[in-house]
Amino acid sequence: MRCEQFRELISAYIEQSIAPPLAAKMDEHAARCGSCRTELEDVRRLWQMMTEAKRVEPPASLHARIMQEVYANTPAVPALRWWELAWRPRFAFAAAAVLMVLALVIWSRNTHTDAIALSVVSSGGNPVSPVPISNLPVRFEPFLTDDGSLRWMLKMNAPRPTSVEVTAGAQSVWSGTVAQETATVLPAMSQGAVLEVRVVWDGSITLRAWLPAEISQEEHKPVLVLKERSIEQTLGHITRAYGVPLVLVGETDPLTRVNLESTGVTLDEMLSKLGEKLNLQVSRAEDGTTILTAR
Ligand SMILES: [Zn+2]
Repeated sequence: MRCEQFRELISAYIEQSIAPPLAAKMDEHAARCGSCRTELEDVRRLWQMMTEAKRVEPPASLHARIMQEVYANTPAVPALRWWELAWRPRFAFAAAAVLMVLALVIWSRNTHTDAIALSVVSSGGNPVSPVPISNLPVRFEPFLTDDGSLRWMLKMNAPRPTSVEVTAGAQSVWSGTVAQETATVLPAMSQGAVLEVRVVWDGSITLRAWLPAEISQEEHKPVLVLKERSIEQTLGHITRAYGVPLVLVGETDPLTRVNLESTGVTLDEMLSKLGEKLNLQVSRAEDGTTILTAR
């Protein structure tokens, strides 16, 4: 496990909403990495403060104002979250007070009701192309290798010869003509990672899939805070947090940005809210894969 992965998963780790094998990996990492251990302790202390301060009842408008403040004072560094910045010395003083109150608000929402707040903050307004397929022509199948790590296989099935291009991340994986069933093994990925796969079918229909490196067997209710992410980035984060593969069929507006904060919601609750806001139809394939179709 790498430090970025560790840090991304700290909240979920503390509230014990990640799968035990992943939690074990985090224990290992914390045991040998001092800076991540310090970070974990800092976040734990913060959570502890939230618990002790449970009688505080902030006004309803406070959260919005704090988030505004946090966003306004956070430089646009896509790889970092505001709470990661907050731990850096340069931002620590300015952010400490804000963080404290914010933590109280998040905690207090946690105690009252499971919450999800989701907004689309900007949109280029590009139309999404309708998808004329009723059945997915592809299937993503997980399998375990000899060393116990999870890999994904892509199975494609075409009733007539169809040109297909497959990329995973920036890497071209397969390209050619599919006639009847064709299978290809997707690249290996590191623990905690999400593999983003793009399949261009017949030169026009695009399927994208976000595949987790570990599949979660239990129902997760992770804490997610995303700021102005694209639809693709949002789906990648949901995949990582919930440990489920997601498949998106059709084109979405690349300029749309999503703000998302959620605590204690199930995947189904998350997806139904997301589908409604982003105009995606949510369905399940026969094998249980969650499919989002751009309308
Ligand atoms: Zn580390």
